[in-house]
Amino acid sequence: MSLDGKVALVTGASRGIGAAIARELSRRGAYVAINYNSSREGAETLKRELGSRAEIFKADVSKREEVRRMVEEVARTFGGIDIAVNNAGVMELMPFEQYDEYKFDRMWAINVKGPIYVTLESLPYLKKSKGSVVNIASIAGLGTALLNTTFYAITKAAVIALTKRLAYDLAPYGIRVNAVAPSWIETDLTTRGRSREEVERAKADIINRTALRSLATPEDIARAVAFLASEEARMITGQLLVVDGGRIDYLTHAV
Ligand code: NAP
Repeated sequence: MSLDGKVALVTGASRGIGAAIARELSRRGAYVAINYNSSREGAETLKRELGSRAEIFKADVSKREEVRRMVEEVARTFGGIDIAVNNAGVMELMPFEQYDEYKFDRMWAINVKGPIYVTLESLPYLKKSKGSVVNIASIAGLGTALLNTTFYAITKAAVIALTKRLAYDLAPYGIRVNAVAPSWIETDLTTRGRSREEVERAKADIINRTALRSLATPEDIARAVAFLASEEARMITGQLLVVDGGRIDYLTHAV
């Protein structure tokens, strides 16, 4: 599964799952473009860790002009783009009856428009390299029973539909498009605003609902992404790879 000499753009790689993906792709020999929006320090620390084959690029993925500039800069720096990983994302929890238009629009712009913009702007380079796109969806997009995730789930369902449709749209260029759906993973996204006790309770609850009785880690997601981006997956497109240890809450509706 070597990615030797490939150029990978990973959005939202300043921390969490994105940082783990950047590390894994780099470990497999890829040049990595570390995208960040506000966590410059995290991005710089990762760049130092990965060395001269990685560079940092600031862009808000929900703004097309910023994405265009970033993609051009990445291609100029590394001579093209082979792999685009759409990982940047946010989760705003809210009960259905407390619908907040501002929060929903922001999630939609980052989680859905972000992957659209990054893929659109990377297309000239992906066409040249016959590259691949990997989107980070979520099991939420399949309709899990997690509280207050209705609107987040809608954005991730859209990412899954986008992946399947893009696989057809881009197949004529030899570009593959796949997605990975992580389960609950301990990152800022899932721990922000929660006490240690609440996080431990959430973890125990998830483990209870998981057939393998274990939690997925950012590294588990990173290995799935590396596989889908590699030549090993050359006949795989339009697929959603669920990395969740067998979540029984949506497999059987048992809690
Ligand atoms: P995280 O720790 O909160 O990290 C989010 C990343 O997204 C950060 O690097 C952040 O960069 C970046 N980001 C946010 N808004 C951005 C924007 N407008 N433009 C560019 N980058 C932006 O979250 P995570 O848990 O690693 O999540 C990564 C992805 O996995 C997301 O798509 C999330 O929905 C998905 N996911 C997570 C879980 C989970 O349980 N953690 C489960 C399923 C799916 P800055 O800090 O630099 O702004």
